[in-house]
Amino acid sequence: MQQGQTVSVPSASAAIDRTSALSILARCDELAAHSTLPGGLIKRVYLSNEHRAVNALAAQWMIEAGMRTWQDAAGNQCGRLEGRTPGLPALLLGSHLDTVPSAGRYDGILGVLIGIAAVDRIHASGTELPFALEVVAFGDEEGTRFGRALLGSRALAGTFDRDWLDLSDADGISLSDAYRAFGLDPENLGDAARGSDDLIGYLEAHIEQGPYLEEADQALGIVSSIAGARRFAITVTGKAGHSGTPFDRRHDALAGASEIVTLIERTARDAGLIATVGHLDVFPNAVNVIPGRVELSLDLRAEFDTERDAVFERLSTIMTEICHSRGLTLDIRQTHNAPAVACSPGLREAIAVGIAATGQKDAQLLLSRAGHDGMAVGDLTEIAMLFIRCRGGVSHHPDEHVTAADVASATDAFESAVLSLAGATL
Ligand SMILES: [Zn+2]
Repeated sequence: MQQGQTVSVPSASAAIDRTSALSILARCDELAAHSTLPGGLIKRVYLSNEHRAVNALAAQWMIEAGMRTWQDAAGNQCGRLEGRTPGLPALLLGSHLDTVPSAGRYDGILGVLIGIAAVDRIHASGTELPFALEVVAFGDEEGTRFGRALLGSRALAGTFDRDWLDLSDADGISLSDAYRAFGLDPENLGDAARGSDDLIGYLEAHIEQGPYLEEADQALGIVSSIAGARRFAITVTGKAGHSGTPFDRRHDALAGASEIVTLIERTARDAGLIATVGHLDVFPNAVNVIPGRVELSLDLRAEFDTERDAVFERLSTIMTEICHSRGLTLDIRQTHNAPAVACSPGLREAIAVGIAATGQKDAQLLLSRAGHDGMAVGDLTEIAMLFIRCRGGVSHHPDEHVTAADVASATDAFESAVLSLAGATL
């Protein structure tokens, strides 16, 4: 199929077929086959051969949907359908094609395919919008390869820090060299940055990665905001010694760290936000030696940054008291700080109109506790997100699952949201 051809009845019916839920799910399966793991497990990281392969597939589907395509300077696959006149500012529709190890097949991927399907339908219907539509398939959201998330969307937002070029993967390959191996010049990364004047906003469809839609027996929801996360590396230092040492002479770093872990859970729970200690290293980690040092992580998330920061201050004070009472020293180093990003009221309303058009009576407002590309794009333009029910709230796991009926509703809602923004008659 050629770009820009006149809309005809056959192409409209082909578009209807291509954008059905079963076709979208079949495309998810096709993308899932591009993996570095054996046995049907999925792992696809930034700037890999598998990344190249899924970009090519996405580009092909974008072209079928009537878009002009290009891969940007950061390896994000992009496609554009012009509006009523060429060169109008664009509404971005996007998500990501990279995955965590042993991933599901819908996190990110489904959002890209729903974006392409929405453009396909609008193109096939011959509707001319007062803005251009662009789909962006981000190359890196998860941060699996280089340990830093949102590399693709930060490049698009113009907030890519050139120090990150020195990050290296598990094989010691630097991000800079990975760009070159992918056929991109890291000197040109700035070309991926978009100007806010060229955009009217960003919409993303994504699986919920939580249980609330399923609990409410609803297919779709509206994201209120994406939680801001702060991460810390905490070190508790005591004194290693023989396990025969009496209690009153011990400075047991693990006993102190254990108090800290349960304190973090209790304090966060009472404050109504989320905290996780997901990593713990004990030194020297021997059966007959009192632990002399413990390193642990803290990941703290909330809808509002002020609330999160207040809880951190409280935790910090109590952690200091625990360590002081046990004769331990405490070191807390912040490793990550991303502010919460609120979804724009206007774009949220468009998502609500889209959901209502599917016949769903109520739509919940949901906080996204997981990070998304929208966090980075939010530095550039207004954002909003549509959440899709996923079975058991399971994500980042091969059991990740969505139903065809929910994918059909999500695609209808997303298309309607775009048309409602255009002020078009549904
Ligand atoms: Zn995702």
